[in-house]
Amino acid sequence: MIILMERGASEEELNKVIEKVESAGFAAHPDEGAKQTVVGVVGEGKREVILNTIGAHSGVEDVVEITKPFKLTGKEYKSERSVIDVDGVKVGGDNFVIMAGPCAVESKEQLFEAADHVKEGGAQILRGGAFKPRTSPYSFQGLKEKGLQMLAEARERTGLKIVTEVMDTRDVELVGKYADVFQIGARNMQNYPLLSEVGKADKPVLLKRAMTGTYKELLMCAEYIMGAGNHDVILCERGIRTFVNETRNTVDMSVIPVVRELSHLPIIIDPSHGTGNWKYVSPLAKAAIAAGADGLMTEVHPDPENALCDGPQSLKPKKFKTLVDELRQIGKVVNRNL
Ligand code: PEP
Ligand code: MN
Repeated sequence: MIILMERGASEEELNKVIEKVESAGFAAHPDEGAKQTVVGVVGEGKREVILNTIGAHSGVEDVVEITKPFKLTGKEYKSERSVIDVDGVKVGGDNFVIMAGPCAVESKEQLFEAADHVKEGGAQILRGGAFKPRTSPYSFQGLKEKGLQMLAEARERTGLKIVTEVMDTRDVELVGKYADVFQIGARNMQNYPLLSEVGKADKPVLLKRAMTGTYKELLMCAEYIMGAGNHDVILCERGIRTFVNETRNTVDMSVIPVVRELSHLPIIIDPSHGTGNWKYVSPLAKAAIAAGADGLMTEVHPDPENALCDGPQSLKPKKFKTLVDELRQIGKVVNRNL
């Protein structure tokens, strides 16, 4: 359920409500909206206690039961669209954020070259995996902490923010020392302990949809992160498994308007993993901005032919720059800043 505070309710009144919610065995998630503050009430507490008594608290306008499974991710809890602040870079609202970089951090030279190019091309956030989830245990698994250090150096050098994957609860603290955004990869979308762990962290989380994940499952996974206290969640469509063989996965464009209808969270698109082929990245990125996506994540490599990971789907820097220029044109029509 949610408790709607009156406009102009005082902090003291809000705190009393939070206390009451917690004493009934729930977690309280206050959200200060432009119109009024709303307190999300989640968990397994004594519902009747809240339903029967909260109306008597001063500063409370109403209490509403949420029937949908999406308690914190849904629009009932928050009607305005969430804008996630990545250390000054705003994700959501009228912005269209560009996250780009190599699949994996391979070396300082490779990363710095890619970082300089994506910065030049118009990215605000640099991607690059230091912990790589690979299909084969014999493939390159990432440079781990050394890779994280290189990402931090690339941030120093370019001013770009860093998004990088964390695969294991035991690495959340380490990755959090270097990253500006935790990436939860498609294979870990439903790794609930990992979701709870990044949910306790104070950095935004990019949650990728599993290749077999439904919209509902994606949003329920975001609920895990938000329920643990971290409301800064960015969703990402990265292609799902279908019967199509020409592309690595099938980019599900319809998830963009559907999720925007159901949730206040921003959703971005990753056509690199979605298609597995650099040739299809630009068309789908352009379709996504038109369809209402809040951003793009794409792989860019200075030398894709020799990439240690995902070369065939990586854009060369020049193509990336052309894509961003085209997205800017479309952005003008659909009221997106980039
Ligand atoms: C990635 O972005 O590096 C990645 C492995 O993507 P996904 O989890 O979507 O496969
Ligand atoms: Mn990749």
